[in-house]
Amino acid sequence: MNLRVRKIYEALFALEDLREIFRQALPTAAATGTATTAATGTALDESGEEELADGIARVEAILRELKYGKGSPIKHIDAEGRIELRTREEEFININSIQPGGRLTPAARKALIAYGDGYSVCDKCLGGRLDGIRKPPVEEFHAELAEFVGMDEVRVVPGARRGFQAVASSLLGKRTGEGTGKGTGKGTGKGTGKGTGEGDIVLVSDLAHYTEFLAVELAGGVVREVPSGEAKKITGDAVAEEVERVKSETGRLPKLIILEHFDYNFGNEHDVYGVGKVAKDYGVPFLYNGAYSVGMVPVDGKKIGADFVVGSGHKGMAAVAPSGILAVTEEWAPKIFRSSQIVGDLTGRRFGNKEPEMLGCTLMGGTLLSLMASFPTVKERVNRWDEEVKKSNYFCREFLRVAGSKISSELPRKHTLTKVDTRESFDTVARTHKRRGFFLSDELKRRGVVGEFAGSTRVWKFNTYGLNWARLKYLGEVFVEIAEKYGLVEGAGGG
Ligand SMILES: *Cc1c(COP(=O)(O)O)cnc(C)c1O
Repeated sequence: MNLRVRKIYEALFALEDLREIFRQALPTAAATGTATTAATGTALDESGEEELADGIARVEAILRELKYGKGSPIKHIDAEGRIELRTREEEFININSIQPGGRLTPAARKALIAYGDGYSVCDKCLGGRLDGIRKPPVEEFHAELAEFVGMDEVRVVPGARRGFQAVASSLLGKRTGEGTGKGTGKGTGKGTGKGTGEGDIVLVSDLAHYTEFLAVELAGGVVREVPSGEAKKITGDAVAEEVERVKSETGRLPKLIILEHFDYNFGNEHDVYGVGKVAKDYGVPFLYNGAYSVGMVPVDGKKIGADFVVGSGHKGMAAVAPSGILAVTEEWAPKIFRSSQIVGDLTGRRFGNKEPEMLGCTLMGGTLLSLMASFPTVKERVNRWDEEVKKSNYFCREFLRVAGSKISSELPRKHTLTKVDTRESFDTVARTHKRRGFFLSDELKRRGVVGEFAGSTRVWKFNTYGLNWARLKYLGEVFVEIAEKYGLVEGAGGG
């Protein structure tokens, strides 16, 4: 436990309490009998002033403790002790596989402080459309975002999954009268979409994320998995073969192809350019899943040949969850971002300025503002992707010094997410260790390394994204040191 880190949290919380005083006070000095204009700075009544002075003294005391490393560390955010502080980014090196790209920038954390209130982005919403808000500059942000991923139009969505959902829902046929829900009265809803009533087909990878499956399911479609083969890499040819198979079996083309640039399982790079070309050749729309790339890797959707580009704010764009983006080409914008047509039968109300796939508005506060605040950093950091890959490969080389360890992902690494197999290294120790599989996470934690691998010494994943060289070298040393302790380094000292 790092006392200074915890003192910083304590001071931040104490400042929030000061902020609250103003949220309870009158906006003018009326409380003291002088109804002057607001914002003159003396709006607190006597007890408020007293509370403020006490609060400032408290902040000063905490800062003194921070400065001199004194006092006791706080452990929770609340007095009841129900919610623990989250300090893993400050007190540890976090190599969790899904978290590094979503680590907030300082700007995003400030945005969260300032825009954390519910519908905070709606202060100056004139047209009833999130993407039209000028203050804060949401409209401008949308334009920049589209350019950033090389597409024409973009909307922010609550997670990549909601991007898949909007596209699947727009493209897949609604199965009304097609096998489901025929019949009346008691017999309704029988038939589960088998046989002729089967829904539209979407091609996904055999390494596809579950959210792609669910988006297709919800839209009434079915998936066909394209095999990634021995190499665990999806090629354009494999997709073309599956398109042909679907065509000859059903007489129709798939309605959509979804492929992730980097899959969540191995972090392998898949041939999105090749698939983009195949998709064009067959005239099948192509959704580029950039959950593990947008915001970390340079992405040019049109160059790839994508009709849709989906990114994740909390996975790759240093934003608060749930957030993400759905970008489309000009050609698809009218279909995906179509306007609402529904009319109230009683009131005749219409909502022509709302987009049904977005359910009107999506990210209305801290999520969007964190995305926007991080954006300048995100735009710049994608240019340093090569360096991230270099660091990833450096770490993998160090990791392989642990005798018996294997990298399950492709080598050399092209991403920072890596799957490893330590059944013949760390797991040989776990078999006789009294802590069993937990020994490795114990040893790592003791050295300040955390991730999501409690108990897993067998096949697991880590992600080195965003670690500077100092942290990365330390990380390498930690693994080698643990290996040495348990006699797992052959020819120790070699490089
Ligand atoms: C994480 C991930 C998703 C889901 O992203 P959300 O933004 O959480 O919805 C989808 N696809 C892949 C490949 C992922 O790695």
